[in-house]
Amino acid sequence: PAPVICIDGPTASGKGTVASLVAQRLGFALLDSGALYRIAGLAATRAGIPLEAAHAQQIADLVATLHIVFTPDQRVLLGAEDISLAIRTEAAGMNASRVSAFPAVRQALLQLQRDFRRLPGLVADGRDMGTVIFPDAALKVYLSASAQCRAERRFKQLIDKGLSANIADLLADLQARDARDMQRSAAPLKPAEDALHWDNHAERTIEQAVQQVLAWWEQ
Ligand code: C5P
Repeated sequence: PAPVICIDGPTASGKGTVASLVAQRLGFALLDSGALYRIAGLAATRAGIPLEAAHAQQIADLVATLHIVFTPDQRVLLGAEDISLAIRTEAAGMNASRVSAFPAVRQALLQLQRDFRRLPGLVADGRDMGTVIFPDAALKVYLSASAQCRAERRFKQLIDKGLSANIADLLADLQARDARDMQRSAAPLKPAEDALHWDNHAERTIEQAVQQVLAWWEQ
């Protein structure tokens, strides 16, 4: 099977950017698994399904019918609609975190994620890439950073996209999201036992993280 590099970590740790650059440098495919949970949350919300455990199966059934496409220029399509911006809001992230706690929803997205694996290789970014989706991955990286540092990073990302944001709200949101992602019983956020750790703190650049992942890969 094609080799996989997993990059897991909490929200706004920089893993999306690092994963995308590593994939680009190696000519590998990219799986942004968080986008899938964001789409699940968006689709369920639009369908008027409450994001509650009692409706988990209904959400999972809906997810199984969705036609999702990641374009080469990194846009995300749901059917014919470009939802790249709609899934990037904080509300979409919070809804993603809610639906991702339901085992039925995780199950509905399992094979879809594994289908991204192809030659010459795949870089997979998420929470459970190394623990659940690709346990046999050749390289597992766990990227972390303090909550304050991640809130500032998310703030810059949103402003760059022309969206409005507030650091205090972002910090509160991401702490709530971390707590839910780590405490849930279905695939809780935690490093794989064989993951290599990188603290993506404020003094470290994205390029340093990319170079470290590429160095680990070449070893
Ligand atoms: O990475 P991103 O912030 O886009 O992910 C949105 C939410 O989706 C996360 O807060 C997490 O709850 C969920 N998620 C997950 N498993 C993944 C990727 C994301 O549960 N592999």
